[in-house]
Amino acid sequence: MNMTIVRFAPSPTGRIHIGNARTAILNWLMALKTGGQFVLRYDDTDTARSTREYADGIAADLDWLGIRPARVEWQSKRFARYDELADRLRAAGRLYACYETADELDRRRKRQMARGAPPVYDRAALKLTDEERRALEAEGRRPHWRFKLDGRMMPWNDLIRGPQAIDTTGLSDPVLVREDGTYLYTLPSVIDDIDFAVTHVIRGEDHVVNTAVQIEITQALGGNVPNYAHHSLLTGADGKGLSKRLGSLSIASMREGGLEPMAVVSHAALLGTSDNIHPCADYTELVEGFGLDKLSRAPARFDEAELSQLNAKLLHHLPWEAVKDRLPSASEEFWLAVRGNIGKLADTAGWEMVVSGPINAVVAPEDRDFIRDACGLLPASPWDGTTWKSWTEAVKVATGRKGKALFMPLRLALTGLDHGPELAQLLPLIGRDRALERLS
Ligand code: GLU
Repeated sequence: MNMTIVRFAPSPTGRIHIGNARTAILNWLMALKTGGQFVLRYDDTDTARSTREYADGIAADLDWLGIRPARVEWQSKRFARYDELADRLRAAGRLYACYETADELDRRRKRQMARGAPPVYDRAALKLTDEERRALEAEGRRPHWRFKLDGRMMPWNDLIRGPQAIDTTGLSDPVLVREDGTYLYTLPSVIDDIDFAVTHVIRGEDHVVNTAVQIEITQALGGNVPNYAHHSLLTGADGKGLSKRLGSLSIASMREGGLEPMAVVSHAALLGTSDNIHPCADYTELVEGFGLDKLSRAPARFDEAELSQLNAKLLHHLPWEAVKDRLPSASEEFWLAVRGNIGKLADTAGWEMVVSGPINAVVAPEDRDFIRDACGLLPASPWDGTTWKSWTEAVKVATGRKGKALFMPLRLALTGLDHGPELAQLLPLIGRDRALERLS
């Protein structure tokens, strides 16, 4: 059995957003599940728009998501290889020179449509004689190159969408090489998938239309056809598609916004599957439950508010070990007291203030006597998790107050807030000196 090899192939013309990250995460889960390899491939054939900065940013985003590529490749470093295989296709008569300008093609398409014919490239260039070709080049025209499709039904068994078939008779021969000799995405992607022995192409369904063509090219080059799995795309909460330029949905902005990477990963991995979306603290559980067959074909809705809630849920159960390096000034007792009351890890700063102060203690005029009595009953140090109970029982007996009338004024005076972590846990952290000061 061959090792499973998957690839994630972003174009470094921008940072990745949650939709691209989902593709990366599904590929990573596939690699983990099968003990396979994850290749990060930069589709940077567009050298004008691709930058090193974006590529580094994408690498940092993947690293933050816990994705560790076994191999990193750059298409821009492989042009000699693409030239070699393009020549092979030329020699086999599968890549042919065309000289039409964009305007000419446009006019031709319009004439076809006016006749009610499909606007498919008519292969006029194949009929050019050598002399006509020389004449066009003498005019200063340079050829672009089209792949000659076989024109047949191309079936494949999509691991998410099920059996698929596209009839390439209805397609224009795709342009693989531009006038200036640069490559469109189609051919380099196929060559890389062959050369890196990719076994599974897991990508968004916006690429379904490329698949039949890419399989034909793979076969023309004598390569092994990989398995294909096209997942549905994410929509926003409004049901509309996500655009790459939506900054707030970028992984970078989620990191800067203080979200936990595993909340983003859990959300992206489980969205659009038959499993409930729940927080997973590491990849282990996600890998166990992972299967391409669990992915729905329907578009999955991404809602930032749901991600925030998932982030909070994840934090609520995180053990001290998982966060202590990021909270150098805190203690385990503090973490266990406050983790249920935060949405993001940075929210702990607010609770550190509540514990160590200064705070604005709140005492309503009608509670002044009550608070003074309670203050007089504060137990002696040392304090622990039982102090709150023994103190409030004594206060209850002395003042006759109970329930909310007892607890709320104490909470307001001790924390300045009407909500927050259990006071039984907070009180020993606040300590006797500060409690005394806040109550007096
Ligand atoms: N660079 C392409 C994209 O980002 C990759 C498509 C593929 O996975 O083949 O859409």
